[in-house]
Amino acid sequence: MKRAMWFLDQREMPTHWYNIQADLPEPLPPTLNPVTKEPVTLEFMNVLFPIECIKQEINTTDRFIEIPDEVQEVYRTWRPTVLHRAYRLEKALDTPAKIFYKYEGTNQAGSHKPNTAVAQAYYNKAEGVRRVTTETGAGQWGSALALAGAFFGVEVKVYMVRISYDQKPYRRIAIETWGAKVVPSPSPDTKVGREMLAKWPDCPGSLGFAISEAIEEAVGRDDTHYSLGSVVNHVLLHQTIIGEETRKQMVMADAYPDIIVGCIGGGSNFAGQFLPWIRDKISGKKKDMRIICVEPESCPSVTKGVYAFDYGDACGMGPIIKMYTLGHGFIPPPVHAGGLRYHGMAPIICHLHKLGFIEAVAVPQTKAFEAGIQFARTEGIISGPEPCHNLKVAIDEALKCKESGESKTILIAHSGHGHFDLGAYDEYLSGRLQDYEYPREAIEKALAELPKVE
Ligand SMILES: *Cc1c(COP(=O)(O)O)cnc(C)c1O
Repeated sequence: MKRAMWFLDQREMPTHWYNIQADLPEPLPPTLNPVTKEPVTLEFMNVLFPIECIKQEINTTDRFIEIPDEVQEVYRTWRPTVLHRAYRLEKALDTPAKIFYKYEGTNQAGSHKPNTAVAQAYYNKAEGVRRVTTETGAGQWGSALALAGAFFGVEVKVYMVRISYDQKPYRRIAIETWGAKVVPSPSPDTKVGREMLAKWPDCPGSLGFAISEAIEEAVGRDDTHYSLGSVVNHVLLHQTIIGEETRKQMVMADAYPDIIVGCIGGGSNFAGQFLPWIRDKISGKKKDMRIICVEPESCPSVTKGVYAFDYGDACGMGPIIKMYTLGHGFIPPPVHAGGLRYHGMAPIICHLHKLGFIEAVAVPQTKAFEAGIQFARTEGIISGPEPCHNLKVAIDEALKCKESGESKTILIAHSGHGHFDLGAYDEYLSGRLQDYEYPREAIEKALAELPKVE
């Protein structure tokens, strides 16, 4: 019998997240205060985040951090997730490569994002904060946090990028169904929002701008924290449950990945898969392992951005971090992969790229959907537009194996389903889906506005 799925018993679900900071050959650059441009203090960060998350953010000593029981309990409503072998895709490609994928689309919200949303809602509740604000693009993060808020009794307010709010109502409705409040961003609820609306009443919004609004509200209210769905260290930490599970499942499958591929928007889902593996590369145990980050050609932070200190949000209200950036004021073209439309990238990913441990490639959206369709017609899953990007690269690598005759093991980090993105599939199938040119001018303009840091 050929096994196509590897389950992990609930009793074997990992009880700890993996903290890469303890194994980095060089420490991460500091996070800076947006006003003083000095390293941030605990007090500054605590206006936004729970103390436990800040401790995780700066923890460089503990390799493993225990997952609180209450968080494990919620994880067990869908975890461990299954590891699949893509036999049908392998056959269609006629490749000797062994293709595995770990699928994060089976939970209530349909993506990897609840892995951190649940932890953040729990830590806020545990520290007496019963209300959080956040931003969302296409709505995946907003719906994950709304779900987590419902589980822990935390009130959630979501600033949703205006263009998605208008064009993609279903995730907004899901957010409201789970009990959170949603407003389109720019909104009249904040000072930056009102200023923007006065200047530009039809402003379509951006993720960076919605972050600014969510931060402004959290800073202005004692009872409210801010919650971020990607980019920062503690979010990547919470996602490592994915890779920790996969390590156990690959042992069961008697396999070890030669290549790991994933898509990067802010970097959290892919880091959650590859960080638990990269320790073997850093320690020299598996030096030739390739880790390939895939981003959209229209928002290519790592492949075309500069490595510099920049604001995480559009208005310069949040912390300054060192990352590959296209400039905090950059508004990416409206590609369907809403989760990949962010100007920067997780500092941990940028640092590992700078140190030469990981590589990055950019893919246009038509090629991504082409791969997504092939995956749907072989493996059955209709993938989110974001993971379609890495499917394209995984398929290319499998085809290279066909040419060379090598039987490499490829592991795909699959971040979620595309059931709310069928409009994009419709565009592809009817030949209306277009690619956007690399927005050189807009990026050059945004890069001229980087903060001056000594
Ligand atoms: C949000 C999202 C992404 C991108 O975010 P990362 O932090 O880079 O993981 C990718 N895939 C899906 C399905 C998402 O919802």
